[in-house]
Amino acid sequence: MPMNAQGRPSAAAAVERVDLATISGDRGLDHEEPLIFELGREGVTGVDIPEVQLSAARLDGQRRCAPIGLPGLSEPEVVRHYVRLSRMNYAIDAGLYPLGSCTMKHNPRLNEKMARLSGFGDIHPLQPQQTVQGALALISELMRWLTTLTGMPAVAMSPKAGAHGELCGLLTIRAALDARGENRTRILVPSSAHGTNPATAALAGFTVDEVPATDDGHVDADALEAKLDADVAAIMLTNPNTCGLFEPRIKELADAAHKIGGYFYCDGANFNAIAGRVRPGDLGVDAMHINLHKTFSTPHGGGGPGAGPVVLSAALAAYAPLPLLMHDGERLRLVEERGALPAGAKPFGRMCAFHGQMGMFVGAISYMLSHGADGIRQASEDAVLSANYILASLKDVVSAPFGDGPCMHEALFDDSFLQGSGVTTLDFAKAMIDEGYHPMTMYFPLVVHGAMLIEPTESESKESLDRFIHVMRGLAEEAKAAKRERFEGAPYYAPRRRLDETLAARKPVLRWRRRELPQAAE
Ligand SMILES: *Cc1c(COP(=O)(O)O)cnc(C)c1O
Repeated sequence: MPMNAQGRPSAAAAVERVDLATISGDRGLDHEEPLIFELGREGVTGVDIPEVQLSAARLDGQRRCAPIGLPGLSEPEVVRHYVRLSRMNYAIDAGLYPLGSCTMKHNPRLNEKMARLSGFGDIHPLQPQQTVQGALALISELMRWLTTLTGMPAVAMSPKAGAHGELCGLLTIRAALDARGENRTRILVPSSAHGTNPATAALAGFTVDEVPATDDGHVDADALEAKLDADVAAIMLTNPNTCGLFEPRIKELADAAHKIGGYFYCDGANFNAIAGRVRPGDLGVDAMHINLHKTFSTPHGGGGPGAGPVVLSAALAAYAPLPLLMHDGERLRLVEERGALPAGAKPFGRMCAFHGQMGMFVGAISYMLSHGADGIRQASEDAVLSANYILASLKDVVSAPFGDGPCMHEALFDDSFLQGSGVTTLDFAKAMIDEGYHPMTMYFPLVVHGAMLIEPTESESKESLDRFIHVMRGLAEEAKAAKRERFEGAPYYAPRRRLDETLAARKPVLRWRRRELPQAAE
């Protein structure tokens, strides 16, 4: 039997796939799973709740008369439903997750264990501060690591995602401008920026002025400098940028922003490539969010949780949002109100209720302490090494627009290798699902055609990278051989086949309506 490099039966040896219609509708251990509302039956419940006698009068005629329509299921039915759904998911715990820009890396279980210690996991944000001194000390220690790693004097801990951190940074910049009595209206954003950058600038009330990229994947620094004038509030740059490249002229751009009286915002979501190697403060950065859920290894995706602390330069530190964490001699104190501000503090407001994502703070400091300063540096170096290994191993078959390298922690490919094959980036990504991989990030950044952005992270072994490279090379060769049916119909093996994305975008079904499940024939 022909074997592939990993000693598994190769595709050539695979038996032809039979579409066996099973009696149950399930395929082996792949269960077909209806919505929980379709599974539920009226009158069924997993718990016994005593009949409650409500006095109708107290609800003033607002009492519900019709059934509420919640699904009725027993406890094991609910458990099975969610376990079956979870088995349709891909996860970093299931395999390599090459989604560029997202840093899907292994989350050491130690971090979770620490976050669940009852002294952290069971405290309440409204508890008296003298009862949570340990938790405050942990936040303070994390702040010390973040400011030390970035070379910045201050950090706002409360933002709950990268995009939320961007908003915090820009509102801080707005407050600093207001304090100077200046109403600058423009933010310069490179065309390769993550979509959240222009969205945040617009939300914060600025106009977005887009700066083009050069042919080598960097921001066009000359075009950027030409746009600088007294109306520019800030430059908002990502470094390493979303083409996976370090912006070599970053210091010059920061200086230029300062020269015209503006600020320099850096999107630090890609800190995983440089932590322990470069301090953004030394590059002239005034504000930068750090995605704890990317660089510092909290499991993420599907909407959260996230944490986006924002480090601030001396020019912006005074405007950081509430709450502020202060050392009062022996005790730590969260300052929540303007009446109690320390001298010089001029917070612009606050980003959210309470103090930030405590569980993620514990996870991040646990990650930092268990790695140590040298380990954090090595993680960045290994992340960059992994990405360069992928770039070097694929670029003869998968076109890489900036393939001369080196890249930072992400390898960027485009779709020119697919030209004439009839296969698109989307088709290619769907075929990866059949091979057991979550696809890479597609069609982002927008500055290259049919982009495929791969971020392997430092947590993959060489064996795991080799297997991925083997599959990617195989798929690229099949695409070039114009084996279109392999791609056009993909995914063949996923719980759901290819969706009609145009129809889904144009005519989204936003509301579920009850329909009867097919009854078994009598
Ligand atoms: C992930 C990411 C963001 C946004 O972070 P969220 O936590 O998803 O809001 C911003 N910029 C870049 C470059 C990113 O990769």
